[in-house]
Amino acid sequence: MFGLKDDWSLKLPPRYFTLEDYDGGVARWCPGCGDHGVLMSVRRICREEQIPPEKIVNVSGIGCSSRFPHYMATYGFHSLHGRALPVACGVKSRRPDLDVWVSTGDGDNCSIGAGHWIHAMRYNMKMVVMMFDNNVYGLTKKQTSPTTEPGFKTNTHPRGAVLPALDPISAMLGMSNVSFIAQTVDWNPVHMHDTLHRAWKHPGLAFVRIMQRCPQYTGNIFEAFQDDPNSLLVMEHQDGVPVDPSLDRTFKNRIAHDPKDIHQAFDFAKRRDVIPVGLFFCDPTRPRYDQISSVGLGMSVEEKLQGLEREFDRFAL
Ligand code: SF4
Repeated sequence: MFGLKDDWSLKLPPRYFTLEDYDGGVARWCPGCGDHGVLMSVRRICREEQIPPEKIVNVSGIGCSSRFPHYMATYGFHSLHGRALPVACGVKSRRPDLDVWVSTGDGDNCSIGAGHWIHAMRYNMKMVVMMFDNNVYGLTKKQTSPTTEPGFKTNTHPRGAVLPALDPISAMLGMSNVSFIAQTVDWNPVHMHDTLHRAWKHPGLAFVRIMQRCPQYTGNIFEAFQDDPNSLLVMEHQDGVPVDPSLDRTFKNRIAHDPKDIHQAFDFAKRRDVIPVGLFFCDPTRPRYDQISSVGLGMSVEEKLQGLEREFDRFAL
């Protein structure tokens, strides 16, 4: 007799994913746009963690950064203006096994999407939310956004924006059930990668504000910060974003910050003389709605009926 089972079994080699496996095509952002670096960071993290591309969902709203899902060879949802977070929460609620990444911008998230922003933070479902903040509406060609600094000239305020800018970090520190707030800059790719990687490891909703260069419309707003490495205030802690030793020589402006200390986080968020980078706040123990909403997922109709009968029987005489 032939050993049929052995003869016909197909032994597949384990899958190994390379950067190309996440490459969804050539990004059509402007040359020099900070979005390119974020895309490369996310692809690298997916490769380092060997996340199967079919287990990833990239969700976005509307804006330049919201083209992100088109450039990842994963599942994706390019949704409506300000609506990335409710879509992402819906995905996570029904498919908690998927790895969800959200791309949104300052205009998308902090204006029309602000209502969803507050509630998604409170729902605290496990996902990474990247807010690309270039202080302007880029896709629609330079209108004032909620984070535009006063005096900056835009198409809607040719004499300069008039209102104080919204501060996303301070706003989030005041939101209910917030569990992870970090900040990084696109011109420091090592720190940006490590911040996004630390965010990916967080068990709840990890929000990362990325100061992002838009050479097309906000050309030199970050120039002074780029020229002077000491203008980045690197927050350090064993529970924070790990600081790569390659940054030691250049980025010497460091400060100890325990991410459990929300009061000190508020103080750092108010700084305007420097850009604080790293983890402002983290509490991995906060409740997650995806854990609550996924109870009973995958039950058969019979199992659901049995469960209902059991509940009804509790009230039977
Ligand atoms: Fe990037 Fe600005 Fe060009 Fe949009 S307009 S792709 S944000 S450089």
